[in-house]
Amino acid sequence: MSVKVDYYETLGVAKTCDDKTLKAAFRKLAMQYHPDKNPGDAVAEAKFKEIGEAYEVLKDPQKRSAYDRYGHSAFQNGGGGGGFRGDFSSSMADIFDDIFGEMMGGRGQGRRQGGSSGRERGSDLRYNMEISLEEAYLGKTAEISVPTTIQCDVCNGSGAKAGTAPRACPTCGGVGRVRAAQGFFSIERTCPTCQGRGEIIADPCGKCGGEGRLPEERNLSVNIPAGIEDGTRIRLAGEGEAGLRGGPAGDLYIFLSVKPHEFFQRDGADLFCKVPISMTTAALGGSFEVTTLDGAKTRVKVPEGTQFGKQFRVKGKGMPVLRSTQMGDLFIQISIETPQSLSRRQRELLQEFEEISSSENSPQSTGFFSRMKEFFEGLSD
Ligand SMILES: [Zn+2]
Ligand SMILES: [Zn+2]
Repeated sequence: MSVKVDYYETLGVAKTCDDKTLKAAFRKLAMQYHPDKNPGDAVAEAKFKEIGEAYEVLKDPQKRSAYDRYGHSAFQNGGGGGGFRGDFSSSMADIFDDIFGEMMGGRGQGRRQGGSSGRERGSDLRYNMEISLEEAYLGKTAEISVPTTIQCDVCNGSGAKAGTAPRACPTCGGVGRVRAAQGFFSIERTCPTCQGRGEIIADPCGKCGGEGRLPEERNLSVNIPAGIEDGTRIRLAGEGEAGLRGGPAGDLYIFLSVKPHEFFQRDGADLFCKVPISMTTAALGGSFEVTTLDGAKTRVKVPEGTQFGKQFRVKGKGMPVLRSTQMGDLFIQISIETPQSLSRRQRELLQEFEEISSSENSPQSTGFFSRMKEFFEGLSD
């Protein structure tokens, strides 16, 4: 068993703090470390669980006083997987529904339904999808195939054999929890007969073995909107795994990544493209043609005397702005290629060009080194 951090420390509150302070501290930390805000971050996820566990204990006056007296050992001697810990995942879901219910929309409701009786909410699923920049530009409908579970069609998710129904658990009377005296206080724990479900299935359904769901490969169409960004997560509510014994389904999360493009770099809705032009085009002027992501060709005019690093903006030829009719711009960044592998004739022409050049032809480089020298000599005086 790993060493556990003090619950008060986890939430950053004093031992004497009141319920209001406790709740505020929890809410703040839970928001900060919520997996939805930290996708794929295992450290944040672990922290999030710790916070939930600490709050779960401290918000309950009975558990809090047990914790104050006995520390973590108050919750570790349940034996047989019982004690508070057994309840933990379901009650944690309740806490988060409390806090995040409004924020998460339908998800909170689903959890609450699943919290009672033998039904359990199905797991959320993650699907990684990679698309090209062209696909992000146009948007698309992606057909995906997800290994998941669906509700059993024989028992309609109840898990009970046709003609029978689950019946209330005789040990806990359908509550799913039993109370047991321990020391000075009584502890509520998961019912050992029904494992907290509150129901017992005497004759399980032959097809699903009492689970109420079956594994299946599901085909789904996912709408990828034009302008979607790398790292976006799309949530498909209720498209995750079917719930256990008729509980609500989980959600499906699509984690989207956009492949790097050979010619275009993206920054938000703007695109950047590096275009090398010849030294003579840069000096004499000219034009070139680029193909943009919509497949159209755009001619870019190069003025006489264009310098390295010059940037041209082509309006409206960037990426679409998500859920709007606006478009970003395309920025063309010029680099100038110095000619290589010169023939004798080319060399002669360039040498002749050099001989008849004046300082007006190259104002930046003319006198650069003498100016630099003067500058530093001036400093040392
Ligand atoms: Zn079934
Ligand atoms: Zn029971």
